[in-house]
Amino acid sequence: MILASHIIVSGLLGATTHNYFLAAVFGFVSHYIIDVIPHWDSYLSPEFKIRAEIKDGSFIKEKFFWKEISKIAIDILVGLILLFIFLKNLNFVSIIAVFISIFFGVLPDALQFLYWITKWQSIKWNIDLHDFIHNSIHKKIEQGFWPGMAIQIATIGIVFLILYKF
Ligand SMILES: [Zn+2]
Repeated sequence: MILASHIIVSGLLGATTHNYFLAAVFGFVSHYIIDVIPHWDSYLSPEFKIRAEIKDGSFIKEKFFWKEISKIAIDILVGLILLFIFLKNLNFVSIIAVFISIFFGVLPDALQFLYWITKWQSIKWNIDLHDFIHNSIHKKIEQGFWPGMAIQIATIGIVFLILYKF
């Protein structure tokens, strides 16, 4: 899913607890669970992964790199703004728990990016698990932009209703 969806879902989960450890677990586990759902998240150019894997250091000096990074930044920013609109009306929220949950909620994607660049074997398990989860259902029912986004919005709506309206 796009980072905004992970930020909102993990942030909402983190807001249900004042326990930092639970917030981390909720955020981290939620990432893999919601990535099962068919979605759309392919806004990065396929060339980005290929270039990131070539460690010649010249990539970050290119306009193309920063264009891709700015898409990620917008994704994160939109997620944070929407999350705090959701949280605005909730009392007794531990903001630290929310941020811990968000951190762990986006960590699998950050680790994936790190693996492309470094090829560190110690974080390869994340790639394997991530691919396994993506291939289980999501990749079999590839969604275009609009249906994929609609599914992500519906997922966020359902999570919000389950956590705060029942
Ligand atoms: Zn993911």
